[in-house]
Amino acid sequence: MDYIKYKAIEELSESEAKEELARLAKLIAKADVLYYQKNTPSMNDWEYDQLRLRNKAIEQRFPESKRYDSPSEIVAPGPAKGFTKVRHAHPMLSLTNAFDDEDVKEFTCRVRRLLKVPNDTPIAMMVEPKIDGLSISLRYENSKLVQGATRGDGMEGENVTRNLESIKEIPKILPKNVPKVLEVRGEIYINKDDFLALNKRQANAGAKLFANPRNAAAGSLRQLDPQITRTRPLRFFAYSWGGVSNFYADTQEECLKDLRQWNFTINPLSELHDNVEDVLKVYSKIAAKRCNLPYEIDGVVYKINRIDWQNRLGVISRSPRWAIAHKFKTEQASTVLREIVIQVGRTGSLTPVARLKPIKVGGVTVTNASLHNEDEIYRNDIRVGDTVMIHRAGDVIPQVIGVINDKRPNNSQQYIFPNYCPSCGSKTVRLDDQSTRRCSNSINCSAQAIARLKHFVSREAFDINGFGAKQISQYYDWGIIDTPASIFRLREHRNKLIGDKESKILSTDKLLTAIERRRVISLERFIYSLGIRQVGKSMAGVLANHYGAIDTMRCALMQAVKMTSNAYLELININHVGDALVNELIDFFANFYNRKLIDELIKEITIKELKAPQVSDNYIAGKTMVFTGTLQSFRRDEAKSLVESLGAKVVTSVSKKIDYIVVGVDPGYKAMQARGMGITVLTEEELFGLIKLIS
Ligand SMILES: [Zn+2]
Repeated sequence: MDYIKYKAIEELSESEAKEELARLAKLIAKADVLYYQKNTPSMNDWEYDQLRLRNKAIEQRFPESKRYDSPSEIVAPGPAKGFTKVRHAHPMLSLTNAFDDEDVKEFTCRVRRLLKVPNDTPIAMMVEPKIDGLSISLRYENSKLVQGATRGDGMEGENVTRNLESIKEIPKILPKNVPKVLEVRGEIYINKDDFLALNKRQANAGAKLFANPRNAAAGSLRQLDPQITRTRPLRFFAYSWGGVSNFYADTQEECLKDLRQWNFTINPLSELHDNVEDVLKVYSKIAAKRCNLPYEIDGVVYKINRIDWQNRLGVISRSPRWAIAHKFKTEQASTVLREIVIQVGRTGSLTPVARLKPIKVGGVTVTNASLHNEDEIYRNDIRVGDTVMIHRAGDVIPQVIGVINDKRPNNSQQYIFPNYCPSCGSKTVRLDDQSTRRCSNSINCSAQAIARLKHFVSREAFDINGFGAKQISQYYDWGIIDTPASIFRLREHRNKLIGDKESKILSTDKLLTAIERRRVISLERFIYSLGIRQVGKSMAGVLANHYGAIDTMRCALMQAVKMTSNAYLELININHVGDALVNELIDFFANFYNRKLIDELIKEITIKELKAPQVSDNYIAGKTMVFTGTLQSFRRDEAKSLVESLGAKVVTSVSKKIDYIVVGVDPGYKAMQARGMGITVLTEEELFGLIKLIS
């Protein structure tokens, strides 16, 4: 974005206004092309809106100067070059928005007026969550998927058929009884978790980060190379129809039911109600669930249920008069950036964090926000003392999305990202292909050592109860812990830990007991706890299953330094192990310091041997299941290893492919979704009943 300080609109002369309108038209057109066609937004939504608002305000003051190519007259550019164009049989409409309850009430009154139905006749409406993704139209002919197209400008979209092939939730073949020609409309989206993981992969690969899940979904679908789309975790919800050869439903409700029967995934939160009060209650209910949903939604949609009424109400300037989108309030606010703090992670990466003047955003007080990385700070020219815009989306950490230039203090200075590690003072380095800068000293940097210890005791690693971040930093500063092995020698320092405070005896002994309990550990947790770059929990499991013992793994990875070795060939052929990971693993074990750490640690602990899963003929082997809610007699990960040892596969998301869903206390959304799909629901007792049958 262009960071000249804007002049107040009242102070603009006519010629200045003309100049600025020309500049804005160019800037917005360029941003549109980058956003809609190249999937690489040059600015975030807020910055973009600011430009459009300013453009509109100038046009209002100088109507004579409005340009023929004014951005306020152009909706969105058509299809990008590179995709063939598709004309939609029925236009893909865009919804009008309601911003508060009054707008919704007004909508129902208008519908009543237009339909001329008396006040005592109920008008049933379907309430559906508005998924924040990318609209798509799927065309089926004789039950076969023949074409998929993006919305484009509503009349004409892009042919992305090949890119849809890898999306599991889009059926390629429908049952025989569907209309000969059927256009199904819905939303392509990406789950929040998958979005974060994708951005992590992008960062590791030095590629550009996506601004939000919607952007990631659009960018992933609109790839000219379908092979890239294939690697992206895209999902699909169906919600309506376009052109149909013979119409099949009388209501929106029936339509959704039919779509479900034809194996489309329908959002399980949809509800039908026949008065505006109940409809607004659903809005509040869905709004309250928003944070905990696996995907982003930005509002709910109300649709008149009766299709004959929909047809009578019709369409006005590309928006249906029988539906309206009730948007959630955006969770944005502005506040002062007090300080930019650089955190050093366990792999030495430098992460900038904004310390803010406390501000309420969406009911939560925010004091810290993410500044992404070095490039983002420079791109936005973010400075200490600036008033910045904060965006909070669900449970994701709040983000700084822009600077309010008019409020910049006169004496502010450009922020310079540190060339030296704030913890150990070593030089920081940044490889050409990576977006992160790292501390170059991996051995003697206390920030990294402390971060590694925190990782080591964390829940998914050694899971040492009561070992918080505070104690780790403190004990590290006292010089009584430095490496993972030293944690197991902490009992030698019991007197020092307690000091002269009797009140500390209990908590200290509790901690020491918790440490003793972890002297026996699974190989999977052990590998994860080493904190090797790119080795998350599931990859640790893959490696544990493959190598079976730490010595085997270590020997193999040391031999794999030679690319001609069998060990190298073996490594690159393990499922899910990509090039970048291969290099990280080899580097880690080539490092003498890391091997010494492992040696010392092995002296203190015992690593459990892996038993090969017994795949036998039982109710569990070969089945796929999902756990949801809190289990009472087992921890989730224990239950998971138990059923996996019996040959089951445990996944995290509900789909038609799963056999059982095991529900604990407060099961929530997943259980509902599974019931909707007719999947067998097991209580904890029922699951253990099945297990007992085996043993
Ligand atoms: Zn350092």
